Amino acid sequence: MNNHEPINNSYLISSKIVRAIRAVIGEKKNTLHEPTFKGKEWEYVKDCLDSGFVSSVGQYVEKFENKITEYTGAKYAIAVVNGTAALHLGLIVAGVKFDDEVLVPSLTFVATANAVSYIGAKPHFVDINAKDFGIDAKKLTAYLKEISEIKNGVCVNKKTGRVIRAIVPMHVFGHPCNLKELLPLCNEFKIKVVEDAAEALGSFYDKKHMGTFGNLGVISFNGNKTITTGGGGVILTDDVELATHAKHLSTTAKSNHPFAYIHTEIGFNYRMPNLNAALGCAQLEQLPELLNSKRRLYRAYSKAFSEISEVSLFQEPPLCQSNYWLQTLLLNEEFMSCRKEIIENCIEDGISTRPVWKPLHKLSMYENSPASSLPITNNLSERIINIPSSAGLV
Ligand SMILES: *Cc1c(COP(=O)(O)O)cnc(C)c1O
Repeated sequence: MNNHEPINNSYLISSKIVRAIRAVIGEKKNTLHEPTFKGKEWEYVKDCLDSGFVSSVGQYVEKFENKITEYTGAKYAIAVVNGTAALHLGLIVAGVKFDDEVLVPSLTFVATANAVSYIGAKPHFVDINAKDFGIDAKKLTAYLKEISEIKNGVCVNKKTGRVIRAIVPMHVFGHPCNLKELLPLCNEFKIKVVEDAAEALGSFYDKKHMGTFGNLGVISFNGNKTITTGGGGVILTDDVELATHAKHLSTTAKSNHPFAYIHTEIGFNYRMPNLNAALGCAQLEQLPELLNSKRRLYRAYSKAFSEISEVSLFQEPPLCQSNYWLQTLLLNEEFMSCRKEIIENCIEDGISTRPVWKPLHKLSMYENSPASSLPITNNLSERIINIPSSAGLV
């Protein structure tokens, strides 16, 4: 009898989840997250085609960057081909070099660690907290005191001898992590901060936009994010030197000469094309409306799930304004073994659900990476379920 219990529980819990979600979205077809094109997308994209400027030259790229700085409050924005490329460049200009270590959460999309690896640096996984799913600053302080020392003005891992050059805090599903606690710590340990705000366009901590707290920050405009440019990303910074270097590297490090091809270092072909920026300009015009719609969806889910005791719906942390990119259920600990079946049952009933990413320290290419103990990461990664989150569902 005992070994039937999880099956019964899974069935029971998934029925409740399906009922709650149907109460909010009705019989609508749903995906986890899909884009909304209700503005001037066609007009701006057509304008690119009519003008012939579809690639890396054209007025929309600069327009898009200006709109992004205006909205986020960052001094500089550099538009690139995707969020991963933005992270790659951000880490390079922050000074990350071959064989450095970079602190990253393990509960993140794989791009966070891959960008570190592209440089030949090593991701070093650290634990998160259950309040906002972000890096746990208190735990990190104790950990760094134990494993590192400051030598010649840089933080050195005493075990590996490598320099811990940077940290990449990530704002999970758009929920801001507590940078007010993390930043002084990074300052103390001489660690550069590159925020992975890929999911956090429209999210604020104490009224300041995510991605503008660290030395640099990045946002993604992939098709599944809050707004999209098809593929795209942007680097944010207040530092003119970092901004200039990032832009230079994104355009093959070509010197500014009217016709000669002179490149000053090994650069990248990472500049965002005009066509994508045109789409982005149209999307940005709708951002406030999309954010309202996503918040309405959160409120409706919050009501629908209030009586279901087996799961809790994630709410923005105090002082934070979340974009509610992906709506998130946290399964009670006692039912974590049911998650796979719950998700299967929901999908069978036409409700798009998905587990959070497999933690990166459990992926084959990262299983031998340096890491702190990761109890909260391991626990949460077995309990998180994302549910249909697109704007326009309510
Ligand atoms: C989407 C995402 C990225 C990468 O962005 P792309 O534009 O898809 O390359 C990086 N980090 C996180 C946390 C993301 O969610």
